[in-house]
Amino acid sequence: MSLIENIIRPDVRALSAYHVPDSSGFVKLDAMENPYALPPVLREELGRRLAEVALNRYPVPSYVALKAKICAQFGVPAGFDVVLGNGSDELIAIISLACAKPGAKVLAPVPGFVMYAMSAQFAGLEFVGVPLKPDFTLDTAAMLRAIAEHQPAIVYLAYPNNPTGTLFDGGDMEQIIRAVGDTGIVVSDEAYQPFAPSSWMPRLAEFDNLVVMRTVSKLGLAGIRLGYMAAGQALLREFDKVRPPYNINVLTEAAAQFVLEHTDVLEAQAKAVRDARSQLADALAALPEIAVFPSAANFLLIRVQSGHIDAENVFARLLERKVLIKNIGKMHPLLKNCLRVTVGTPQENKQFLDALKASLAT
Ligand SMILES: *Cc1c(COP(=O)(O)O)cnc(C)c1O
Repeated sequence: MSLIENIIRPDVRALSAYHVPDSSGFVKLDAMENPYALPPVLREELGRRLAEVALNRYPVPSYVALKAKICAQFGVPAGFDVVLGNGSDELIAIISLACAKPGAKVLAPVPGFVMYAMSAQFAGLEFVGVPLKPDFTLDTAAMLRAIAEHQPAIVYLAYPNNPTGTLFDGGDMEQIIRAVGDTGIVVSDEAYQPFAPSSWMPRLAEFDNLVVMRTVSKLGLAGIRLGYMAAGQALLREFDKVRPPYNINVLTEAAAQFVLEHTDVLEAQAKAVRDARSQLADALAALPEIAVFPSAANFLLIRVQSGHIDAENVFARLLERKVLIKNIGKMHPLLKNCLRVTVGTPQENKQFLDALKASLAT
């Protein structure tokens, strides 16, 4: 046996590394980033703020001031608090770790966000995926059956869902939250909340087992890595015990505090993205070879339905034209011939559309 075989878990050895393609020189529409930077005046002021940060000191691990600002700015109801994560990816890992009793299970609709299953596996939890309907709405009957059978400790519902963009029906979600009851928590993962028409945040007080998870990544701050989850104090106290004490670094803390004083700028950018989303959806829907699914996020899921070219080829031809989107056709059988494109600036969207039309024509 080699050193690697002696020490590394077989399920970890069997994984392939998370691959992030090199995107330099490309129109980058693959990662749901906000295409807009902060205005120059704010960037200069941010620079001055960051210069004052004491890099020689550990962060104060309670993050009281930042948490208070987040609660105030993002509508966390009175009596509820947040736990912060190094991106919501870390929050998902924290929840998995805290709930990893022997035999505990995680349940989520599929296709969904890959980190739910990955994080479950790393923490030793079993993942149960329940297929969505072919139109990517929730199969509520199947979800309720699976919940009764598996009694999951954690249910994830991405609201709206990635990679489909679907905003699940509120009544369906409520049935699921009630069915899970006190045997598990339901996490409403609202990574795309800035682009969606509704949220579970105002309804936290109605459900003891509800956790609302958000991130500033899709809002325009993917680089600083900051996520937060809101829930009742008793639940958060337990999750906080598993959180690495200094998980938010002082630069992220200072940058977030600063940007939270200027949320109007981010909100205006999110509105521009929402407007561009409808325009892009309309333009795509006008192409006979393309079907577009409804999206409440900052991306669109499309299906190539041409007799002479498939999504794989369209993706490759877009790459030749220096446009990078996401090929998700192999992620799940329901996603056959599907591609996911992030909404960019109007100019980037036009570059994508032109390249797509050229790709479909050749
Ligand atoms: C992007 C995304 C996240 C992760 O966000 P980070 O805060 O950048 O880690 C979480 N959930 C969903 C559904 C996402 O699409």
